[in-house]
Amino acid sequence: MTSDAALSSEAVALADRIGELVARMRSAEAELGAVLVEIEQRGVMELFGYRSAARLMEHLADEPKPAAERLIKRARLLNPGRNLDGSPIPALAPATGAAARAGRLSNPMIDVITSVLAQVPPEHCASAETNLVAFAEEAGHKQVAALGARILAHLVPDGQEPDDTEPVVPTRELFLRRKRTGIWELSGRFDDETGTRAHALLDALAERRTGDDCPDFRTTPQRYGDAFSDAVDLALNSPELPMQAGERAHVMVAVSLNDLKSGLGKATLGDTGTMTAAEARVHACDAMIIPAVLGDKSEPLNLGRLRRLISAGLRRALFLRDRGCAFPGCHRPPRHCQGHHIRHWADGGPTDLTNLVLMCAHHHRLLHRSGWEVRIAPDGLPEFLPPVFIDRRRKPRRNNLHEPLPFAA
Ligand SMILES: [Zn+2]
Ligand SMILES: [Zn+2]
Repeated sequence: MTSDAALSSEAVALADRIGELVARMRSAEAELGAVLVEIEQRGVMELFGYRSAARLMEHLADEPKPAAERLIKRARLLNPGRNLDGSPIPALAPATGAAARAGRLSNPMIDVITSVLAQVPPEHCASAETNLVAFAEEAGHKQVAALGARILAHLVPDGQEPDDTEPVVPTRELFLRRKRTGIWELSGRFDDETGTRAHALLDALAERRTGDDCPDFRTTPQRYGDAFSDAVDLALNSPELPMQAGERAHVMVAVSLNDLKSGLGKATLGDTGTMTAAEARVHACDAMIIPAVLGDKSEPLNLGRLRRLISAGLRRALFLRDRGCAFPGCHRPPRHCQGHHIRHWADGGPTDLTNLVLMCAHHHRLLHRSGWEVRIAPDGLPEFLPPVFIDRRRKPRRNNLHEPLPFAA
């Protein structure tokens, strides 16, 4: 019996220790949330130069951004806010916040309480919170959720009163995050209308390819992945996209001039990513991304930005001449296309009609990576020379799919 008693007192001591540590973790997390909310109110950008408190946490604490976002979202409900003029906004759940800072509430418990309070009419909020927090001390979060449902059923019998002055805000959430491997993951939830539109857009872009001299072997997810990439390009090409620093391109890539010319080496993409210099060369071809071209000592070189940007007028002329992707057999229309510099601007190629060809993103990449070559024929139209492994004589080929029909003229 003695050993049993000893064992159980050891177990009690261990359980107490766990309880103590968990309370300290919860209390520290609640305080951390309060600090992040304060940083948000004082201006993350002004204080740290970061776009959001979640991004700051990502770098300061190696906390994945979605986890940091959840923490901050929770903290905003527990801590007082501030209007733009500096006047305070009371917290939605101040008593829950106090219990959280004392280390007494788990995160699921906090989430249950705040989700109930968000639906309770303001005049009943304080008493509902008192009840919920008191019950939380002795019950699990599922039981507290059940109490919350009872409170709501009593106070808001038909669910929240419909507000007929404001249209219902559709549910839209999107998570896009980069993993350490450099692979990005995308997930989200959308209202029916947005989902249907997105489906229609991707469906149209994910059609099987024709005209590559070989069947399209891509799986359905691969075709939709390519379609998503095309949709991003389309949106980036849109004249309605907000300008950034006067350019329509949006992602910075830092690459040395030598690497950009040779296509060998690595380039830095955005804040954290990397891409091969060959990839940077394709993207820089039509300034889909802004290359910060660096010299030998990493000093930025000014390469005559205007020289390499395809102006709206020039793009229209290119649309009229090529009428779509110029690659033999491709049916993609002009709005899906980019301007390829036949001689890359980094190698001194001019940005004019004699050095540009309209190409869809897929064929543009193919052209940069494979043995295909393009040139402007004496009649002023582009023609493509296949790689030797396709045609030993390299007889030039053209795309005649965009020609107007004889009877449509
Ligand atoms: Zn190109
Ligand atoms: Zn094409």
